[in-house]
Amino acid sequence: MQNVVKDYPAIIGGEEAPVAENYAEVKRPSTGEVFARYRVADSDDVNGAVEFAQKGKELMFEMQPWKISKMFRKVAETVEKKRDFFRELLSDEGGKVWKDAEAEITRSVAVLNLAAEESTRIEGNLHDPRAYEYPPGNDTRFAYTKWEPVGTVVAITPWNYPLLGPVHKVAPALAARNAVILKPASLTPLSSIELGRIIVKAGFPKKSISVIPGPGKVVGKLLVESNGTDFVTLTGDTTTGLSVAAEAARRGKRSIMELGGMDPLILLNDGDLEKAVADATKGAFTHAGQVCIASKRMIVQDGIADKFVAKLTESTKSLKVGDPKNKSSDMGPMIDEDSLLRVDSLIKSDVSAGAKILVGGSRAKEGVLTKGHFYLPTIVDNVTLDMRLNMEEPFGPVAPVIRVSSEEEAIEAANHNPFGLNSSIYTANIGVAIKMADRIKAGGVRINDPPNVRWDNLPHGGVKKSGFGREGVKYAMKEMMNMKTVGINLQSL
Ligand code: NAD
Repeated sequence: MQNVVKDYPAIIGGEEAPVAENYAEVKRPSTGEVFARYRVADSDDVNGAVEFAQKGKELMFEMQPWKISKMFRKVAETVEKKRDFFRELLSDEGGKVWKDAEAEITRSVAVLNLAAEESTRIEGNLHDPRAYEYPPGNDTRFAYTKWEPVGTVVAITPWNYPLLGPVHKVAPALAARNAVILKPASLTPLSSIELGRIIVKAGFPKKSISVIPGPGKVVGKLLVESNGTDFVTLTGDTTTGLSVAAEAARRGKRSIMELGGMDPLILLNDGDLEKAVADATKGAFTHAGQVCIASKRMIVQDGIADKFVAKLTESTKSLKVGDPKNKSSDMGPMIDEDSLLRVDSLIKSDVSAGAKILVGGSRAKEGVLTKGHFYLPTIVDNVTLDMRLNMEEPFGPVAPVIRVSSEEEAIEAANHNPFGLNSSIYTANIGVAIKMADRIKAGGVRINDPPNVRWDNLPHGGVKKSGFGREGVKYAMKEMMNMKTVGINLQSL
């Protein structure tokens, strides 16, 4: 079949600006083929989007929540109707295998429906100031608190979830009645552009929606620094996130930062071996490990470690690495060559320090897979706390195994790195699990489930270098609003 290169516009204040002189190409990670081009936004595009958003945020401020709710239902329905289209696109731009793309679309639709519900649930409180001694005169007063939109939200997304990532930011921003300017990842901007088109068609005020792809250090930076934007929500690498958060804070803007993770999956001697192995296999190798809450470190107690490693090796060998468009593929390519080389060098560096590869450990060397960025699912045993696979996020298909002798050592290993996103503990003893959950420094703990179990309307986010602020529609909405207190004195009425 002939390869067709399709052009994608930027969306500025709801209007499409076509590909012009300044464009970038998008390649399929599975073959290296160019299949699309998109308009790279320049400073005029950024200024245009910000300018439109000034009016857009007023229109959103005035908008009745029931109307927003209906528009979200329409967006959700359209994404669902375009399921086949999005599955192809996610495979083309992100290298997602069929089942991962399906799951991403299903969750995106669910998040949009959650936004439809939550947009109608913005409530305040009525207060009786007679509860307080100060200030004097409270006997004739009452007060209420209400939530108001922050204004214009800048949403900056990474490449690993090209549809769900943007949905998790744009949906709460609009549900909270803000204007939004989305700056998608340069490697995978196309699902964002399609999402923008659908949102505009659903009836949201045009001026409140912009999707402007381009380099983070130019387009993202200008948006964060602009006087016309009010809030920044970014998912990405820790170094990027911390510098963007500092820049935003300098300008008085709050932010949500969803950053790197090194989530431990802890298996104690009395844990469910079969389930832990199945969860670890999925947790480590789904989307070639390029998931923030992937199981990135297997911390296993000595009494069960040999059995775990043997079974994990078996299940890893059974994974089918292949063309993302093939329905039976379990794992596809990594996003690009740099990412593949980084994982390879982390593994090699730990092997030279004494760790042992049990399976994988190199790129795919056979057949059509050699054309893309395919790295074999890899297990590395005997990883120690000072090694790079315990300290640095590989963001690739590798399952490092760290052996520990006790619960105490397991907690120490879990906490012995800069990150704290999610974590998980497998044990039959719920008392032990709950005590351990209290001591693990992470934004979330799963007991007898892997770290990648995520509920889209519950808080998601990290501690330490994994960032701050929380996603989850209801929680992100609160972050993207300000609380106003109104006091009324009835004395003069
Ligand atoms: P990245 O930091 O390179 O890029 C993220 C986004 O930030 C991109 O859109 C990029 O263009 C933009 N950006 C870069 N520099 C910028 C600047 N100076 N100003 C404004 N914007 C800028 O991250 P990535 O490689 O796309 O994504 C992978 C990382 O994302 C991993 O570390 C992963 O763990 C993390 N991640 C975290 C979560 C979470 O929920 N915590 C979810 C997914 C991915």
